[in-house]
Amino acid sequence: MSIVYLNGEYLPMAEARISPMDRGFLFGDGIYEVVPSYDGKMVGFGPHIDRMNDGMQAIGIEFDWSHQQWQDVCDQLIEKNGSGNLGIYLHISRGADSKRFHAYPEDIPPTVFAFAFEIAPPPVADRAKVKGYRVSTTQDLRWQRCNIKSTALLGNVMHFQHGHSEGNNETLLYNADRELTEASACNAYIVKNGTVITPPLDNQILPGITRLILLGVLRQDGSIPVEERAVTMDEVFAADEVWITSSSKEVAPVVEIDGKPVGNGQPGDVWEAAQKLYSAGKFDY
Ligand code: PLP
Repeated sequence: MSIVYLNGEYLPMAEARISPMDRGFLFGDGIYEVVPSYDGKMVGFGPHIDRMNDGMQAIGIEFDWSHQQWQDVCDQLIEKNGSGNLGIYLHISRGADSKRFHAYPEDIPPTVFAFAFEIAPPPVADRAKVKGYRVSTTQDLRWQRCNIKSTALLGNVMHFQHGHSEGNNETLLYNADRELTEASACNAYIVKNGTVITPPLDNQILPGITRLILLGVLRQDGSIPVEERAVTMDEVFAADEVWITSSSKEVAPVVEIDGKPVGNGQPGDVWEAAQKLYSAGKFDY
């Protein structure tokens, strides 16, 4: 897993060099994506690139590669690194300047970096076999533009560490009104009386591609109702099921929150049905 892409070249990771004056390093001034790939087949490639373009537009990085150009880099990384279960990391920073000055510099080329890393196999939609996640909760203290997939992830890192330090796998976040936002690296959902409910897309959460695919396959199937609306933490603690989603986890059932069981403390049957639909439909996106 060691051949990476950097500014037009494929080279061993150990030989890749980026200037210490790169604004990605100095300011976290960049946008990134992680696209999952299983046996050479990517999930949600188009939506991932669209989201990256939205992020670059939001922060004024001018870089207009076509989907095909990104696809070529991803295909090369898969070919060069062995096509198992991979996350393809794509990163564009504003580039390396000669001085450290906050304003966006003009006329410096962005730094483009990509590499592949191994991810876990996709979950099997089987309640008896799936890993249940244990999570902590804390107030969401990140910035007001969480819809941008910025490389400046210190807020997310600190929130993840909160759960990790309590021996948990993730941290569910809530805003000043005690409404669920998302998790430090995942979107979040509750299930109540058979309905899947998730916070709406706004500046408080990342528009997850797994979320997009999951809501798409659920609505297309039609057997499990879906609502996008504010969810209070009281509803989270009273939910029958709680899930988190991300590209590398797909749909992950949460079985314990702050040491208290979710529902009966086991992955639920709505989760199993939803992950089954996700597994069947994900390559259509
Ligand atoms: N929310 C945050 C803060 C994330 O960092 C991520 C993924 O990294 C997600 C949600 C899930 O997004 P996706 O499904 O596109 O992986």
